[in-house]
Amino acid sequence: MINLYSLTIDKLEKLVLEDEQKKYRATQLYIWLYEKRANDFDMMSDISLRYREVLKNKYCLNLPTIDTKQVASDGTIKLLLNLSDENKIETVLMRYSYGNVVCVSSQVGCNMGCAFCASGLLKKKRNLTVDEMVGQVMVIDNLLKEEDPQKRVTHIVVMGTGEPFDNYDNVMDFVRICNHPKAFAIGARHITISTCGLVDKIIQYSKEGLQINLAVSLHASNDEIRNKLMKINKVYPLKELIAACKEYEKNANRRLTFEYILLKDVNDSLQNADELAKLIHGMLSYVNLIPYNCVDEKDFKRSDNKTVKAFLNRLIKNGVTATIRKEFGSDIDAACGQLRAKRLIKDEK
Ligand code: SF4
Repeated sequence: MINLYSLTIDKLEKLVLEDEQKKYRATQLYIWLYEKRANDFDMMSDISLRYREVLKNKYCLNLPTIDTKQVASDGTIKLLLNLSDENKIETVLMRYSYGNVVCVSSQVGCNMGCAFCASGLLKKKRNLTVDEMVGQVMVIDNLLKEEDPQKRVTHIVVMGTGEPFDNYDNVMDFVRICNHPKAFAIGARHITISTCGLVDKIIQYSKEGLQINLAVSLHASNDEIRNKLMKINKVYPLKELIAACKEYEKNANRRLTFEYILLKDVNDSLQNADELAKLIHGMLSYVNLIPYNCVDEKDFKRSDNKTVKAFLNRLIKNGVTATIRKEFGSDIDAACGQLRAKRLIKDEK
């Protein structure tokens, strides 16, 4: 059975034409799914009984279900979701002053093996399907609507568990669905995909013609440090990564974001800040400094506030646009992948 939530409008139009239906049926189905939130084909009253029977035999409307829900004092919601094959994934809602942001996972586990990361504690089992990513947004959006029918998901960051560009085609379909006016209607500039630096995919993505933001996880100012923190650097060292980022800037004509987790005594010196500024000099970019959320199984420590501030000021002095990322959910399992890792490691014991 095909999950209807897995289909971009183009793919759905093709399928309804195969069913000898008019093309507009696809938009009608999108309205039932995303605007009217139908969870049963029999609710789709403007679709003939005959075609509803065809739909029931060919498609399903499955969404992930909630296993665990953590709510932090700042309103952040962290969900552990059950998938149809018993795998579990994490999804997070963060409430910024400018909107409701969902952090979406793109894989079950991750093979990139970044040394500081809780998500990478559990190896990749498989890629998420398009409907499993759409389902994360839908489940959070439904929770928001329970609070107030006017509330909605306004922004998406594909920064949860997994490397989105290691699941490239599904992520591209997912963001197209999120962006579609009859689906979640989330503006392209309100969607961000984050990569640890798969150079070939950055170049491919730069040619997609999408206005969706790209964030690159840098986390180091030189190859020596990055080799220790991120295995991917041994495949794509900084020189190649920065060249790909420059190509992205040229092809997509978009500013990109560099993510930089500050780790105590590892990458947080003023010398590192100078090196970073030099590395990205002249690029249309901005640096997002991320205070580290400690993970029990990892030895890394969080840089103190004074060091973080000094690092930020040094970047700014060097002409770099930079900010410190606001923190959410510090009284729940705040680190990415921490809730799932804790739960699964406990289950395996
Ligand atoms: S930081 Fe991202 S890419 Fe690296 S191991 Fe964690 S989930 Fe994977």
